Amino acid sequence: MQVAPSVLDTIGNTPLIRLNRASELTGCEILGKAEFLNPGQSVKDRAALWIVRQAERDGSLRPGGTIVEGTAGNTGIGITLVAMARGYRSVIVMPDTQSEEKKQALRLGGADLIEVPAVPYKNPNNYVRVSERLARHLAAKDPNGAIWANQFDNTANREAHIETTGPEIWEQTDGRIDGFICSVGTGGTLAGNAIYLKGQNPAIKIGVADPPGSAIYNWYAHGNLKAEGSSVTEGIGQGRITANLEGAPVDLAYEIPDSESIPLIFDLLREEGLSVGGSTGVNVAGAIRMARDLGPGHTIVTILCDYGTRYASKLFNPEFLRSKDLLVPDWLDRRPDIEI
Ligand code: PMP
Repeated sequence: MQVAPSVLDTIGNTPLIRLNRASELTGCEILGKAEFLNPGQSVKDRAALWIVRQAERDGSLRPGGTIVEGTAGNTGIGITLVAMARGYRSVIVMPDTQSEEKKQALRLGGADLIEVPAVPYKNPNNYVRVSERLARHLAAKDPNGAIWANQFDNTANREAHIETTGPEIWEQTDGRIDGFICSVGTGGTLAGNAIYLKGQNPAIKIGVADPPGSAIYNWYAHGNLKAEGSSVTEGIGQGRITANLEGAPVDLAYEIPDSESIPLIFDLLREEGLSVGGSTGVNVAGAIRMARDLGPGHTIVTILCDYGTRYASKLFNPEFLRSKDLLVPDWLDRRPDIEI
């Protein structure tokens, strides 16, 4: 019999998929790691599992305890999945601007969801800072204790990628990989894969793809943390160098506007059958730009972070797209003209 002992054993070992259009367009092999196939449907399941396991190992998380986290959604969904599977309570603090689909997935998944207004990190009411205070409060009150997952500065996050995603990519490409690129939320995915892959072969180029409103492009391109503009993408963009991002060996940086990333998610759906969210659009746009810089014949890997269905009410909603001055694809706007 081939049976996974628990849902947690199905995290990782995701397929690597050739993105045919992007590959043909550039003369490179552009490959996407299908992280939306994790049980919580995003790349963040890996970090969630590693953070919880580490807290179990160091004794800070005890049976019946509570895990508190501030998240744009996907880490919370991963943490909640792991919490339910291992008998913990999950308390998730999230900015109210994030998609309803992610909020619903959290509530239905068993999290206690607390929504807060979206304010910058330096404001004490920022979702990350609220989650830290709440964890301290619950730890003092609850006899079973509580931990703060702290995905931004808890390096168990990037360890998950050093120990799993990076080695999977290396094996799946038989070591024939020339470039790796993705965007940054906590930086765990970028730094973890970059550290592992450069360790295997220092010639592998590492790229970062960054949306407007984030400081990461400016940091690697110009050495400052200025952030300008805004983006409809969720889960990515960062204004500081987190502990997870610290020391990431980045060679190339690209700023990807929504007008470039969002049309790509529609192409991926209609031409490849891949339903992905906005951050994946940024990643694939970055991979295409990197392919143009490296030239034809190279193999470039990026991350397919989460499902498009998680953004049905936003990125796949014509009214939302129009309100953000983004092109509405023809097929999204019309009903099928089939008589029954
Ligand atoms: N894409 C999506 C949709 C996400 O939710 C996240 C995590 N916030 C990322 C990309 C970025 O991953 P990381 O936190 O590892 O930088």
